[in-house]
Amino acid sequence: MKPLTDTDIRDSLVNASSAEAAKMPLPGLHEVVWQEREYLGWRDPGSPQRGYIAYWRDGRPVGLVLRAAETRLRGGSAICSLCNTPQPAGQVTMFTAQRAGRAGERGDSVGTYICADLACSLLIRIAPPQYEMQPSPDVVVATRASRLVERIDNFVSRVLEDA
Ligand SMILES: [Zn+2]
Repeated sequence: MKPLTDTDIRDSLVNASSAEAAKMPLPGLHEVVWQEREYLGWRDPGSPQRGYIAYWRDGRPVGLVLRAAETRLRGGSAICSLCNTPQPAGQVTMFTAQRAGRAGERGDSVGTYICADLACSLLIRIAPPQYEMQPSPDVVVATRASRLVERIDNFVSRVLEDA
């Protein structure tokens, strides 16, 4: 993805107040390998239930504040709804996003299961076993990446609906 600046990200939040945006902690943007990211996702170390996602949607930065469920999934495996990677259940968390605009003011939110560390872009770049390499690792990763973006777009559309 194209790099996002501190200002881009703070101005991008569609479901939070400007006061929340101002005090949002950001990850070290200089350390981000942007060309290997479809979205930037991070948790708030000072407020563990909080998470954030920012990415480019139709040429402009769009960011969401997410709230992680207090209860963790236990046992078995779970699938992230954004990257579709099956993982041990404890590594996938239910996140809810308050909807934008009036729907959000009424208390409406939408939820989905996402990688707990909000690092889908790293996971989709882990190469599958050689026998699954059809046609090539680069193509496999590019396909996963475009599907990841489609799924984020769909989730963000639900947050923005009727806003
Ligand atoms: Zn994921």
